[in-house]
Amino acid sequence: MSLDSTPLQLSARMADLRSSAIRDLLTLTARPSVISLAGGLPATKLVPRERISQAALRALDDPRTVQYGETSGWAPLRETVAVRESGKVGRVVDPAEVVVTHGSQQALSLLAQVLIDPGDTVVVEEPGYTGALQVFRTAQAALAPVALDEDGMDTAALEHALREGLRPKVVHTVSNFHNPRGVVLSARRRRHLAALADRYGFWVIEDDPYGELWFDTPAPAPVAAHSDRVLRLSSGSKTLAPALRIGWLHGDRRVCEAVELLKQGADLCGSSLTQQIATELLDDHEWLDEHLATVRGSYAARAGALVRALESTFGPRISHATVHGGMFCWIEFADGVDTTALLDTALAHDVAYVPGGAFGVAHAHPHAARLCFATYEEAVLVEGVARLRSAYDARAEKLIPR
Ligand code: PMP
Repeated sequence: MSLDSTPLQLSARMADLRSSAIRDLLTLTARPSVISLAGGLPATKLVPRERISQAALRALDDPRTVQYGETSGWAPLRETVAVRESGKVGRVVDPAEVVVTHGSQQALSLLAQVLIDPGDTVVVEEPGYTGALQVFRTAQAALAPVALDEDGMDTAALEHALREGLRPKVVHTVSNFHNPRGVVLSARRRRHLAALADRYGFWVIEDDPYGELWFDTPAPAPVAAHSDRVLRLSSGSKTLAPALRIGWLHGDRRVCEAVELLKQGADLCGSSLTQQIATELLDDHEWLDEHLATVRGSYAARAGALVRALESTFGPRISHATVHGGMFCWIEFADGVDTTALLDTALAHDVAYVPGGAFGVAHAHPHAARLCFATYEEAVLVEGVARLRSAYDARAEKLIPR
C-alpha cells in the first residue's frame, strides 16, 4: 500500500506550526535576477574564507578534529567564550557555564525544551525574531507580546503586565540591533528588565548575535551584567561565517547541564572541526579586531547608502528607524501601503523584502517591512531601492483607475 494514501499522523505540536515566512521567501528570491533584501545573509565577500582555510588546515593536523567531541563543546572554545563573555558581563564566567551549540538557533531550541511546558507564558518582542517565535510556538508556549520602540522592549509595559498578573517563564529579547527592528535596548531598560527578572523570577533569554556589529558606539553592557537569571546567546554566524554553525549559550550552570543533556539526544555533539577553527579565529585578537573593523565599516557604509536611497527615492512616504549597527533597517510606509500585497509586485520588479507581518505576534505590522543591508554592496542596494520605487508606482497605478 502506498504511504501517500494513509493519513499522516504527526504529533500534536505540529498542528499550529507554520513554516517561517522568511524561509519560504528565500525560495522565491533564489532567482539570480532578484535583489533580495529579504534574507538576513551576511556579506559572503566579507566572510574570511582564507583565514578559515588556514585555520582548517592547522586544525586538521590534530586528529581530534575528525572525531566526535564533547557534547558541551570543544573545551578550548568554551574557555575562549568564557573569557569573552566575562569581559562583557563584568564577572568571571566559568567554562562550565558555557555550552557551544550548532548556531545560536540550536541554543534557542534546546532552551525552549528545557524551560517551557505546553501552556507556559513566554514574553516575546512585538515585532519579534521569527526563529524565536517558531521555537516558542513549537514548545506550545502562550506568547505574550510586548511592544518595542526606539529604545527596544518597552519594559514599563512589561512591568505593568506583571503587576496585572502576567507570570512568564521566559522573556526573550534581542538586545542589540534588533532583528527585525534594528533598535538597541537602552542601558536603563537593561537594568530594569534584569530587576524585573529577579523580582518576578522569570528567565531572560538575551539573544545577541549582532552585538559586535556596531557602527559608532559599542552596545551597552548586556542584560546578563545585571542578573543571574539571564541566559545569554551569541554566535559566530555574523562575525565569522554562518556555515561554521558556531553559537553558544552561557548562564546558570544547572540550565547549561540540562541543555547538554538534551543536546546529547539532538546531535551527540557539534563539529569538532569547525569548533577548533572558531577557537583559532576568536583567539587571534589582532586579526579578529581588524576583521570586525572591516565588517563594521562595510555594514555602516551599506546602511548609510540604503537609508540615503530610501530618503531620496521615497521622501516622507517612508519612515525608518535610525540604524546604529546590525544588518537590518525597518521601514514603514506612511501612506498605508500594504507590504504583503506589494510583495508580489516587488518580486515582479526583481526586488524582495520581508513584510512586517512575518514578525507579528498580536499585530500585523501591515505597512512595515524589514530590509537587510548587509548582503550587497552599496550600488546594488541603491538599485534595489529604485526597483522598490517602481513596484510602489506600479501598484499605485493599479489602484487609480484611469
Ligand atoms: N537570533 C537572532 C536574533 C537571529 O537573527 C539569528 C539569525 N538570523 C539567530 C538567533 C540564529 O543564528 P545562528 O543560528 O546562525 O547563530
